[in-house]
Amino acid sequence: MSRYTVIIIGSGFGGQCAAIRLKEQGIDDFVLLERREFMGGTWAQNTYPGAAVDVQSPLYSIESEPYDWSQMFAEQAELREYTEHVLAKHGLRDKTLTHSNVEKIQWNGEQQCWDVQVKERGLLQAQFVINASGPLSTSVIPPFPGRESFTGKAFHTNEWDHSYDYKNKRVAIIGSGASAAQIIPAIAPDVAHLHVFQRTPHWVLPRPDYVFKPWQRRLLRNKTVYRLLREIIYWSLESRVIGFKYSEKMLDLVAGRRARQHIKKQISDPQLQKKVTPDFTIGCKRVILSNTLYPTYCRDNVTLHDKHDGIESITAHGIKTTQGNDLELDLIIYSTGYDATDGVISYPVVGKEGVTLADVWADFPRAYLGTAAPGFPNLFIVTGPNTGIGHTSAIFVIEAQMNYILRAINEVRDAGKTVVEVDAGAEERYTQHIHEEMAKTVWQTGGCNSWYKSKSGKVIAMFPGFSFTFRRWTKRFRRHDHHIA
Ligand SMILES: Cc1cc2nc3c(=O)[nH]c(=O)nc-3n(C[C@H](O)[C@H](O)[C@H](O)COP(=O)(O)OP(=O)(O)OC[C@H]3O[C@@H](n4cnc5c(N)ncnc54)[C@H](O)[C@@H]3O)c2cc1C
Repeated sequence: MSRYTVIIIGSGFGGQCAAIRLKEQGIDDFVLLERREFMGGTWAQNTYPGAAVDVQSPLYSIESEPYDWSQMFAEQAELREYTEHVLAKHGLRDKTLTHSNVEKIQWNGEQQCWDVQVKERGLLQAQFVINASGPLSTSVIPPFPGRESFTGKAFHTNEWDHSYDYKNKRVAIIGSGASAAQIIPAIAPDVAHLHVFQRTPHWVLPRPDYVFKPWQRRLLRNKTVYRLLREIIYWSLESRVIGFKYSEKMLDLVAGRRARQHIKKQISDPQLQKKVTPDFTIGCKRVILSNTLYPTYCRDNVTLHDKHDGIESITAHGIKTTQGNDLELDLIIYSTGYDATDGVISYPVVGKEGVTLADVWADFPRAYLGTAAPGFPNLFIVTGPNTGIGHTSAIFVIEAQMNYILRAINEVRDAGKTVVEVDAGAEERYTQHIHEEMAKTVWQTGGCNSWYKSKSGKVIAMFPGFSFTFRRWTKRFRRHDHHIA
């Protein structure tokens, strides 16, 4: 059985950042475990037509890894190239075991380490585990009645089947969130007919994309220029938190007004305008950036079904709507999202005295700095509870978490000890503070039901404040909030 100092679970940007930082600190005795046959996480997995990032690429990139992006909002192929560049530059392929699906991890009190059960490889052990299994990695399809009976083609956006030619086919897409908003304009011109099933509309703002000219790309290779651009983007996005948290009125006045104008400018049919207009405050759900979604809804070969004409059942040949219409279909695309809140970790975690993380999180997921939980020593959760950021780059938050994780690991090693565990009182105080702050935010009060909320009704996906506050908190390791033994 192999034993490592650190096992990292997941090879997306979370796993990559962890590996890079471990190497920088001279900790080389680690392995990355990846359940897929390929590395890279989100941008290797999501290959659907139109896939692209929603945060400007100079910011949605690893701080120490600038890149000469071809456009402001990179498309999936370029994000994958970037990922390949990072993996190659840091020699991460040699440190990764693909086809390694972690099925369970359990704290081994006797040996003071984690037993990591891997489906394809049996038992591995590690002193520390960094879980980077991804907040949006495990896709979900709700149990629509009759789903299994459909005889046409069907897949989730996360598992796009490129061997299937959707051209001239009768297609339905279920869901109208961020992925669907990219797929709909990308495929509509090629399909015979596209039925879009929207449960609730999202607010949509124009996408300020920009293709960099060759001389600008050359400039992006300059680290100082890259950093400057990153700063400008960062602060312009960060100012949105003022609206998210401190002034819903201002949010509505500035962003809400722009979104309503966007609808009026791009859609002339009042019925369609009504269908796409949300009844909650902008920002409550993730805002979609698109210049092409609304014009696509206006096409003759696209039908938008709202909640008054939803899915009654899936039949052998298509979808029966709640208005009693039978739609004949060749392809159903499930754009129904991810197990992002209550199932934030994709495998069972058993801590001290056999207590599971699922038990501790029965009410709602919670963790100190969204990263550490009492009873689960030497375990760090990347993109854990309340670390989500709707307005800026998830990589910024991931990198902040790495400050804390590396400090914690080094504290143990420097002290010649083996275990670090967050104090239960410290975690309780942190969680209480987070939810007190959350009460003021648009995610809690904006009148929507989003995937940011767990079944408890608490918003557990988002961090209720400025991302620089989170980064500041992670920079200092508070020794008195931890037990080191
Ligand atoms: C379609 C899409 C668009 C997005 N757009 C944006 C955006 O515009 N801006 C933004 O900030 N964020 C965006 N995100 C969020 C995105 O998830 C994060 O930005 C970031 O990529 C998360 O990195 P990660 O490493 O934590 O997770 P991931 O990239 O999801 O990587 C997790 C990895 O862990 C592996 N894994 C999971 N479970 C196991 C297991 N049991 N055993 C072994 N391996 C396992 C997975 O296979 C995967 O490779 C988007 C997400 C999706 C799905």
